[in-house]
Amino acid sequence: MKQWDNALQANYGTPSIQLVSGKGAVVIDEKGKSYLDFLAGIATNVLGHAHPAVVKAVTQQIATLGHVSNLYAHPNAIELAKKLASMTGDKSARTFFCNSGAEANEAALKLSRKTGRTRVVATKEAFHGRTMGALSLTGQPSKRDPFKPLVKGVTHVPYGDMGAMLRKVTRKTAMVIVEPIMGEAGVIVPPHGYLQALRELCDETGALLAFDCVQTGMGRTGDWFGYEYSGIKPDVITLAKGLGGGLPLGAMIALGDAATLFEPGDHGSTFGGNPVATAAALAVIETLEKKSILERVSAIGVELMAEIALIDGVKSVRGAGLLIGIEFSDPIAKKVAMMCQKNGLLVNGNSETVIRIAPPLIISDKDIKEFLKIFASAIDAVRSK
Ligand code: PLP
Repeated sequence: MKQWDNALQANYGTPSIQLVSGKGAVVIDEKGKSYLDFLAGIATNVLGHAHPAVVKAVTQQIATLGHVSNLYAHPNAIELAKKLASMTGDKSARTFFCNSGAEANEAALKLSRKTGRTRVVATKEAFHGRTMGALSLTGQPSKRDPFKPLVKGVTHVPYGDMGAMLRKVTRKTAMVIVEPIMGEAGVIVPPHGYLQALRELCDETGALLAFDCVQTGMGRTGDWFGYEYSGIKPDVITLAKGLGGGLPLGAMIALGDAATLFEPGDHGSTFGGNPVATAAALAVIETLEKKSILERVSAIGVELMAEIALIDGVKSVRGAGLLIGIEFSDPIAKKVAMMCQKNGLLVNGNSETVIRIAPPLIISDKDIKEFLKIFASAIDAVRSK
């Protein structure tokens, strides 16, 4: 795609296709070819493409008042922050709005400094974003190393290893940040009891417990944030991706004492909580609630994982709801993803051995059948080459 290369910087590499329209779980490329979208803009388009509720909310809002900055209040931001607080089940929750996952984690990092402590413990292979603060939390050397020195004071321990956490988290730790399920790392589910043990450790040491729910949030795993199954609450929740249903919107929600750490002047964003993006988010949440989509996500996730596990060539399947990692014994994941694309299905080759799927939460039984057919035949084609 020469035009891309000539106009855009090289940080993403060159995309192989150009998408121009979409409806529900289907997207169309510039040549008119259609694809079943089982990646949803990387776990973002929770209601699929061009959902009428989002289209209506955004259209009405942009035609009424598109932007106010953070010097003025707007009813959508207030309503959305109230809604997010009710989703946490905690009246103390207060939200800071921004525009992306990296910004939400930047905000969490700055909030943690307001405890008076500066040390943070994060996990190896975690992905928390690519701005300098968020990158300091990200635990992937390939993304970090070219940009060192990063923010000081961040230690990375193996994900799911409570012993390592116990050794590193002390009374000097400002924040512990983890993903409830690691998404970018290949859909890694933590061991049973991990999140609860982190809560106990943070209670003992006075460190803030932050859950990066950017990828697991907004119904992706069958509940609102992806940690609720644990029965505990963090002090900080970061959100983005599905929150705006395709519009750029992030949030850093703080609970309890953490909710009042920021004081006037501490942080800001011109676009954060913009009326249009928050209108989209309100439409997303209302639709997810009205149609009981979260219950269905949990049910179809279990069924889909069971079906995928039966496909020849698949070594194991993991995840929750509609955030699913599929592991192969051989390094064929990227080839399988390309073969799927050729045959009209978008999935993500996370690494040489893992494919991630994160379809819109509104996928139908027919979409699932179609996915299974194309996916199995792509694996077959790649393995028999
Ligand atoms: N945190 C998690 C868990 C993510 O999966 C991502 C993106 O993939 C981010 C943060 C960064 O989000 P953004 O790309 O919106 O900055």
